Amino acid sequence: MKKYEEVRSNLIEMLEELDDRLTKITNDVKHSKEPLDKDFEEQAVQAENDEVLDGLGNAARTERELVKQAIARIDSGEYGICQVCGEPIREERLKAIPYSCMCIKCASQAGC
Ligand SMILES: [Zn+2]
Repeated sequence: MKKYEEVRSNLIEMLEELDDRLTKITNDVKHSKEPLDKDFEEQAVQAENDEVLDGLGNAARTERELVKQAIARIDSGEYGICQVCGEPIREERLKAIPYSCMCIKCASQAGC
């Protein structure tokens, strides 16, 4: 799998960045949940922040899963092949989204 060696190391870098991001988000959530005091308005703001952080956390977790799967596909030699129709994924697409698991046609239908 020499062909995707560089992609693989990029993906591993992405994975580390995402892990970092998730750790930070988790810490932020913990921190903002500590003192639940003050007036209602402030609590509302806090709840909103938590929601945003949860959203960010979920997005990062989803991305992390996709990156992990992409690395696994490189290792098993399935990388760059659409998981839906089996056609090769275009190189431009892989460059833009290195963890994409579908060709552009299937992705636009599935909303991946
Ligand atoms: Zn496809």
